[in-house]
Amino acid sequence: MSKTFRIAVLPGDGIGPEVTAPCLAILDKVASQSDGAFALEFQNIDAGAAYYAQHGLSLPDAGMTSAAKADAILLAAMGLPSVRYPDGTEIAPQLELREAFQLYAGVRPIRTIGGVPLPLADPRGQSLDIVLVRESTEGLFASRGKTFVADDDSYATDEMRISRDVCERLFDFSFRLARERKARGRAGRVTCIDKANVIGSLAYFRKIFLERAAAFPDIEADFAYVDAMALNLVKRPWDYDVLVTENMFGDILSDLGAALMGGLGMAPSADIGDHQAVFQPCHGSAPDIAGQNKANPSAMVLSGAMMLQWLGEKHGVSQAQLAAQRIESAVAKAFADGTLLPGEFGGTASTSEIGKAILHCL
Ligand code: ATP
Repeated sequence: MSKTFRIAVLPGDGIGPEVTAPCLAILDKVASQSDGAFALEFQNIDAGAAYYAQHGLSLPDAGMTSAAKADAILLAAMGLPSVRYPDGTEIAPQLELREAFQLYAGVRPIRTIGGVPLPLADPRGQSLDIVLVRESTEGLFASRGKTFVADDDSYATDEMRISRDVCERLFDFSFRLARERKARGRAGRVTCIDKANVIGSLAYFRKIFLERAAAFPDIEADFAYVDAMALNLVKRPWDYDVLVTENMFGDILSDLGAALMGGLGMAPSADIGDHQAVFQPCHGSAPDIAGQNKANPSAMVLSGAMMLQWLGEKHGVSQAQLAAQRIESAVAKAFADGTLLPGEFGGTASTSEIGKAILHCL
């Protein structure tokens, strides 16, 4: 029996619509190759900074309702430096979605693909395969819109929120992920990244990590301070397996992770909760290259693959999981011989050319 997945699509700002087009074409293609096992129905939702500039709203209620009803949400990029809320912060409906749907687990796979120019090479010649799990609903981001500025303008403070309930679900998610990966030959280790030696709320974060670790005796529980991790992610990233961290640290380290993969255009992500999930490339709206057909759509395409993997697992549709693997293989094949070079790697391959190359490999 065929399953139809309803997907809320938010192309957003800047390069968002440009990378969405090839992604949807590729998703359509794998659905059409699934022998009728699943179909995809896309519903476009207008939101973002350009929408805010026109309508005074970043994400209308109707869009939020449609997103809530959808089986999954695919989001490209939101925000433009020139459009801001009255408090000076950028328009970021993706943060509102994470909070509204409690998408606590921000999954950022850091996996290298042959043929993509990389800043670092494993001396053992192996490809990199680690996953960063970024808490995505609280931490230092909980202070968004709530900064206190003293009346005499002499100081400002922000608040970091770390709550037990969110941490327990986040760590259990990370340990389960390490267990799944261990079954596929990975190390079976979760490293908690914090600053427990200086910040009390992050000592609390580590305390809950160690409590939850006791429930997963088959998985190694490891920890590191964020500054040491920034160093080690450059010196020896291949020694890690699953990393889990607070929201702000995760925001920073996921860009470092994208660099390890070659660039932001290669880095997919998923923000996963207990009921809903948003799939979105790690990059932003890249206004500097928007409208020029220069963006690398691979991160968006690989985010679409993560969406099919999640939908397939959640609904027991193995063909959707197979389709996810086919997309990943097609991206790997498209880049394999090293001739497909987007602008971010110094080449000239356009957004549409890269999309076509991946489609061709399907
Ligand atoms: P945000 O804070 O919204 O995540 P950001 O400040 O990290 O955004 P991006 O919009 O991601 O900034 O862009 C950072 C740099 O990476 C820019 O120079 C941009 O052109 C480049 N970049 C981002 N995405 C891509 C892509 N898909 N292809 C090529 N270059 C990209």
